Amino acid sequence: MSILEESLEELVTANHILAREGVVDSFGHISVRHPDNPDHYLLSCSRAPECIKVEDIMEFALDGEPLDAKGRDPYAERAIHGSVYEARPDINAVVHNHSPNVIPFGVTDTCLRPLLHMAAGMGSNVPIWDSRTKFGDTTLLVTTMDMGRDLAVMLGENRAALMRGHGCVVVGKSAREVVFSSIYLEMNAELQFKAAMLGDITFLSDGEVDAILQRRGPYTFERAWERWCGRADRPYESAPGSAA
Ligand SMILES: [Zn+2]
Repeated sequence: MSILEESLEELVTANHILAREGVVDSFGHISVRHPDNPDHYLLSCSRAPECIKVEDIMEFALDGEPLDAKGRDPYAERAIHGSVYEARPDINAVVHNHSPNVIPFGVTDTCLRPLLHMAAGMGSNVPIWDSRTKFGDTTLLVTTMDMGRDLAVMLGENRAALMRGHGCVVVGKSAREVVFSSIYLEMNAELQFKAAMLGDITFLSDGEVDAILQRRGPYTFERAWERWCGRADRPYESAPGSAA
């Protein structure tokens, strides 16, 4: 298989894993930067993640224009993906989701912060983007590149950003990393609720987050990915371009 074919299969698997693990439901999506062209990205047509097949994956320019739509309808919120790839050359995978435990932190003044070592991938700072600040009363959906770019500015150099009353965006260097970060972001949010009921929370320090991220290697993602593939009933394959 070419690296592109491997990337398409991995993206399908990533969609099914995110659905199986409760990060996306009928809505939410994951994209990867095109392995052969950094100015393009790969993202499914408008479909629930657990239904997605390879033939649903479309190729887009960073401005959201599809290369060959073949009659397929793209996601209305694809601007989130192109805007992040445009602003962050270091990022190769983007998840947008509405995972339920994360939402309350976008609508209150309680910051979502890492308290679990497995959740260090969310980073120490998770900013909140409010669509109303610049765009007024909208459906809250990110339907234009103007909105996407404004969200990307709020994301800055961080690993995730919340979207008030809507969801979040999580970014990573690979599909496996961003799936890992998205699943543990949701878990950290749930644990933060529970911990807050018990008393004051000791969060990870910035130094601890840095130390965890430096130690973390591909084996971390692979160990989780293999298990998640099994749970999602998808074959476990090595990462695109890494086969011997
Ligand atoms: Zn959304």
